[in-house]
Amino acid sequence: MDIAKKYENVKQRIEKAALRANRNPKDIKLVTVTKTHPVEVIEKALQLGIEYIGENKVQEAEAKLPKLKGKYKEFHFIGHLQSNKIKKLIPLRPTLIHSLDKFSTIRKLHNYLQKNELHQDILIEVNTSGEESKFGVEPSSTLPLIKAVANFSNVHIKGLMTIGKLTDNKDEIRTCFSQLRELQQQIAQQNIAGVKMELLSMGMTNDFEIAIEEGANIVRIGTAILGPRQYKEKR
Ligand SMILES: *Cc1c(COP(=O)(O)O)cnc(C)c1O
Repeated sequence: MDIAKKYENVKQRIEKAALRANRNPKDIKLVTVTKTHPVEVIEKALQLGIEYIGENKVQEAEAKLPKLKGKYKEFHFIGHLQSNKIKKLIPLRPTLIHSLDKFSTIRKLHNYLQKNELHQDILIEVNTSGEESKFGVEPSSTLPLIKAVANFSNVHIKGLMTIGKLTDNKDEIRTCFSQLRELQQQIAQQNIAGVKMELLSMGMTNDFEIAIEEGANIVRIGTAILGPRQYKEKR
């Protein structure tokens, strides 16, 4: 299947999953994850109408984004952010950073933004699967972290992100997503000044339909649209 067909297919599956869950398909933002794919492939996808692109490595984004000359509507940063990369990431003007999980990194981000008179929307990444290999703050530590960073005026918390458990067991995957939604509701109830809980970024190629059924309003999909990752691409 070529990218055009795969993209259409994914959009249809998003729509069906939304309707199954009595949701408006328009409320779900599709971020196409372009990591490892060369600029030429991304340009082709942009011509087909993808609007939001996601990258997970600062260096790779730095190499590729300028070549796309603003043909995308939004750039989302979805990978782990090391604090020494903040000054390289922010000039690329990410619409949303999905993946912050550490007080010290968020504080450094705030300091950098303040110095440069900039603002940044972010999500807090939560480790809902309990998998050691995953980044993300523990569910029970999420509210304390958010309270601790809420008054960093240049960083705006908009919601939560998670990566579902890597398993074929759909119930276990669903539990990750329902847990994130419950956490979102609990935190929203606290009415913390400066904190919004409107975005839930969850769902990838293998589990986006479950995520939508559980309330995702941003899905991050790579393989199902662009095909297998091209790890040989110089990064
Ligand atoms: C790579 C990646 C995705 C996309 O994964 P696919 O399985 O290719 O859809 C989504 N989210 C994050 C954080 C990723 O690193």
